[in-house]
Amino acid sequence: MDVLKIKPVIKKAYPVIYDDENSRIIIGGFGVNTVLNDPMGAVKFTFSLLTGENSIGDICKIVCNEYPKLTKDDVLGLINDLNSERFIEDTAHIGSDVLSEYSKKRFHRNINFFSSFISLEDNKYISEKRIQDCKVGIIGLGGLGSHIVYDLAGMGFMHIKAIEFDKVELSNLNRQILYNEEDIGKSKAKCAKERLSKFSPKLNFEVFEEKVSSAADVESAFSDVDLIILVADRPKYLLGSWVNEAAVNLNVPLFAAGIEAQRALYHTVIPHKTGCEFCWLQNVKKNEPISDLVLKKRTELNLLGDNTAISPLVSAATGLIVTEIVRYVTGIGELQAAGQELSIDFLTMRVKVVEKWEMAETCPVCGGEANAVN
Ligand SMILES: [Zn+2]
Repeated sequence: MDVLKIKPVIKKAYPVIYDDENSRIIIGGFGVNTVLNDPMGAVKFTFSLLTGENSIGDICKIVCNEYPKLTKDDVLGLINDLNSERFIEDTAHIGSDVLSEYSKKRFHRNINFFSSFISLEDNKYISEKRIQDCKVGIIGLGGLGSHIVYDLAGMGFMHIKAIEFDKVELSNLNRQILYNEEDIGKSKAKCAKERLSKFSPKLNFEVFEEKVSSAADVESAFSDVDLIILVADRPKYLLGSWVNEAAVNLNVPLFAAGIEAQRALYHTVIPHKTGCEFCWLQNVKKNEPISDLVLKKRTELNLLGDNTAISPLVSAATGLIVTEIVRYVTGIGELQAAGQELSIDFLTMRVKVVEKWEMAETCPVCGGEANAVN
């Protein structure tokens, strides 16, 4: 691509303040403000041309004409700096080649959000397109699942398969935002489908109303998904091991979250890049014998899901896990929970790493280090 033909515009996310008295320009960023000294006024003049109507080649000519002391390289240097700070974007990308007009309108705010991360060479519509093309499998439409599918639909995900066999109960309604009082006694899967079809009619939401009792069940329901979300916990511990095995066999990432009374927890497994959940268990066995004993006892007792859960903590956890999923799908930013468990605590609302595990040397599920891929 000929850089000189690009028509840059300053992104709307960044306010520009012309502080003429002090011959400087201030660009408001996210937590960091940039100050550009402008003794000649040439930077301000250049900014007046960054409207999306002038090509970089034209901008260089116009600025050098107005300020003969400046060279083309000076102007290109300034544009390059603005680009590396992600302050400008290319107006040539109008998105019609990747998104429908409906999507461009409905997800306009998402697109603006993605725009804040891109450089002149990128197309801000691509991230939304990646989201729309991604096929998600989710297990559990309870508290966490309710919030997650809504967030996913809001982000523009168009293909979701959900496994849920429960019925709606009155005590679910403190946090399970997909359901109403009139849904009590009805199938969560059916109610969720009905509710989401109103919220996002173009969403292809498929439900499997069945109990999972093996990794094979998960694999057969999710044979074509790109990622799996686990936010159910019955039967406690066993379900996690089946879903972990299915994610490894399908070679798709697993994003898991849960509520443990006062804190919410989440982690990410990328098969053959991070340790899987079985690798994690082996780590616990080796390094934390007391935790291992507690875990064994819990499995033996087959404890049901914790019956402590408040909606704001559920929202906080699902916000974290969905942002992790968006990072994975769009490629914007680094995964934060890969190979480690993060927690958010009600008392402080701080996110911290509570467990970190390596890939096991050998693992009957993922193969361990011998099967690692860089
Ligand atoms: Zn493993």
